[in-house]
Amino acid sequence: MINFNLPPFTGNEVEYIRQAIKNNKICGDGEFTKGCNKWIEERFDIQKALLTTSCTHALEMTALLADIQPGDEVIMPSFTFVSTADAFVMRGAKIVFIDIRPDTMNINEELIEAAITNKTKAIVPVHYAGVACNMDKIMEIAQKYNLFVIEDAAQGVMSTYKGQALGTIGHFGCYSFHETKNYSMGEGGALLIKDYKYIEKAEIIREKGTDRSKFFRGQVDKYTWVDYGSSYLPSELNAAYLYAQLEEADKINEARLNIWNTYNKELKELEMSGMIQLPYIPEDCVHNAHMYYIKLKDIKQRQEFIAYMKENDVQTVFHYIPLHSAPAGKKYGVFHGEDEYTTKESERLVRLPLYYGLQQEEVEHIVRMIKEFFR
Ligand SMILES: *Cc1c(COP(=O)(O)O)cnc(C)c1O
Repeated sequence: MINFNLPPFTGNEVEYIRQAIKNNKICGDGEFTKGCNKWIEERFDIQKALLTTSCTHALEMTALLADIQPGDEVIMPSFTFVSTADAFVMRGAKIVFIDIRPDTMNINEELIEAAITNKTKAIVPVHYAGVACNMDKIMEIAQKYNLFVIEDAAQGVMSTYKGQALGTIGHFGCYSFHETKNYSMGEGGALLIKDYKYIEKAEIIREKGTDRSKFFRGQVDKYTWVDYGSSYLPSELNAAYLYAQLEEADKINEARLNIWNTYNKELKELEMSGMIQLPYIPEDCVHNAHMYYIKLKDIKQRQEFIAYMKENDVQTVFHYIPLHSAPAGKKYGVFHGEDEYTTKESERLVRLPLYYGLQQEEVEHIVRMIKEFFR
């Protein structure tokens, strides 16, 4: 069976975990956590990066930093993972879902402005498959209405928009290092902060509402409880695993892009003959091969496709059930405007295996089976 995903492993992970243990530092903010933060800050040119226990938690931190209050409205696509909405629902926000663009599956930037009310506090663009949303337009709208832009860049680590790293364009950016993402620490993520003025508050929220970070830097004599907060600090053991991956980030990225490009080249003929649709990458975007998906005729054909591939030892998966049609989505959100593409396009989409270590022969087998299905 060719798995849909396997967690990335490059070689130094175990040694670094051993070092963390030897350093007698397995809780958070040790050398490996700091190393990961610094790597992200330097590589992506961002004021501050803080490793977190997940991307969901990084999003939760942004909801606190943006001071989201009950009744506030947050605009996002419905075609996304539940965490994008959950983080704001937990603060009592009402989620305003808007339609996606059928080409990139990203939020349709042209529909955002009409969904803004005097309760709107933030826009949350999700960079689906590591392909950027139209950030110029989104930032322009946010500036005009004085809104926060919180990038859900869970899938966008190492991708860029007009040369800028995803997650560094809005006020806050959130990365995921879950085992299904390009770079992993099992469970984990990062919060990226653009504006200097939010850094101290973010450090306090991450450390249970204490000024412990200041204490460790020698800026205060004792640390104490200064504000609300939680425990969003990952263990050094997880950070050690991630550090090994970040050191090999270019190698992982290249390997993934090779697989992505092979799929794209080999499946072109099926697209030309009108059988399927391949992903679209806008000119301003450099992507990170987070995902390879194809779009079929409809949900029925997708079901047949997934079953056929499974019979031929290939695991393929679909996602997402649009959030506005889920029970919690109905309870906590509304869909603004018409659902022209969200449901229709999500029902056609299927993801092919793509992970670091997937072999060329396996990709060829998958492509062969896809072509056979359409024959
Ligand atoms: C994976 C993912 C998340 C959640 O990431 P975790 O690190 O598992 O919390 C959030 N949003 C999107 C778009 C994702 O793909």
